[in-house]
Amino acid sequence: MLLHHVFGQSNGVKGAWGHAVGGMGAITQAMARAALAAGVEIRTGMGVAKVLVEQGMAVGVLTGSGEELRANAVVANVNPKLLYEQLCDPADVPVATRERMHNWRCGSGTFRMNVALSRLPDFRALPGPGDHLTAGIILAPSLDYMDRAYLDARQYGWSREPVVEMLIPSTLDDSLAPPGQHVASLFCQHVAPQLPEGRSWDDHREEVADLMVATVDKYAPGFADSVLGRQILSPLDLERTFGLIGGDIFHGALSLNQLFSARPMVGQANYRGAIPGLYLCGSGTHPGGGVTGAPGHNAAREILKDNGR
Ligand SMILES: Cc1cc2nc3c(=O)[nH]c(=O)nc-3n(C[C@H](O)[C@H](O)[C@H](O)COP(=O)(O)OP(=O)(O)OC[C@H]3O[C@@H](n4cnc5c(N)ncnc54)[C@H](O)[C@@H]3O)c2cc1C
Repeated sequence: MLLHHVFGQSNGVKGAWGHAVGGMGAITQAMARAALAAGVEIRTGMGVAKVLVEQGMAVGVLTGSGEELRANAVVANVNPKLLYEQLCDPADVPVATRERMHNWRCGSGTFRMNVALSRLPDFRALPGPGDHLTAGIILAPSLDYMDRAYLDARQYGWSREPVVEMLIPSTLDDSLAPPGQHVASLFCQHVAPQLPEGRSWDDHREEVADLMVATVDKYAPGFADSVLGRQILSPLDLERTFGLIGGDIFHGALSLNQLFSARPMVGQANYRGAIPGLYLCGSGTHPGGGVTGAPGHNAAREILKDNGR
C-alpha cells in the first residue's frame, strides 16, 4: 500500500536543467537513489491533476492520465496557490485558505536561458580562460545599475539593461558538451511576471532573449556569435512548464507577511494543510525557497509524528 504520495518532487523535469545550474540536479538524483534504496516508488513525467478528498479527508490524487493513487497522506511540494486554486476542488478548501491564496503574492519573476556555445566567453574585464569561468559570473556593474534594472522592469516589463548571472557548468564537467564547446545558463533579472498593458510573454520571448545575449556580448565581445543554440524560459514558460506561478522560483514572495508562521498562512505553518491528510513540504512553507531541503525535512518530521512514529 502506498503510505505517502508526494507530488511535485523536483526529481524529473527540474533535474534536467538542474545540471545546468551547477550540479543541483545531482542533489535530487542522490535523494532519489536514497529513496529507492528505502523502497520508495518514484514516478515522474506525470502531473497531479487533482487532490482527492472524501468526507473532508485528503485520500489520494488523480493523475493527469486519469489514474487514482490512494494514500494515507498526500504531500504537496508545489506552490500553495497552485495547490489550493488549481489542484483542489474549491468546495474542499476552507474560505480562509481560499482568501489567503487569492492574495498570495508570487513575484520574483525571472527569465531563464540555457545556451550551447562554440567556445568559452572572453570577458573584457578578465580576458582569457581561467578559474573565474568556473564561478558564478554576475553582470551587474553597480548598485545604481541594479536599481535602474528593478525600476525599469516594474514600469516596462523587463529591464532594458538587465542583470545577468551566468554559470558555465561544462568548465567543471566536460561530459556536458563536446570537446571545446560549452553550455551555460543565464539567469536574467529583472522581469515582471505579468507584462504591462496586457502584453504577453509569448510575443516578447525572443526579443528579450536577444537582449540578454546582447548584454553578455557587451562584456564578452563575440559571445553572441558563439551561441549555437538556446533554450528560453520566460516567467510564463516557467509557470507552464514547472508550475512556478508568475515564474516565482520560491513559490511565493519572501516578504514579511509571507514568512515564518505566516508561510503559507497562520495555522498551516506546521506543514499541515487546510484539509486533514494533506501536507505541504515545498518552498511555499517555512523557511522558504532555495535548495536547503529544510521545508521537506520539517514536513517529514510532522508527517511521521501524525503517523505515530
Ligand atoms: C535559474 C535558477 C537558479 C537558482 N539558483 C539557486 C541557487 O544557486 N541556490 C539555491 O539555493 N536556490 C537556487 N534557485 C532556487 C531553487 O531552485 C528553488 O528555490 C528550489 O528548487 C525550490 O525547491 P522546491 O522543491 O520547493 O520546488 P521546485 O524545485 O519548484 O519543485 C516543484 C516541482 O513540482 C513539479 N510540479 C508542478 N506542478 C506539478 C503537478 N501538478 N504534479 C506534479 N508535479 C508538479 C514541478 O515540475 C517541479 O519539479 C534557483 C532557481 C532557478 C530557477
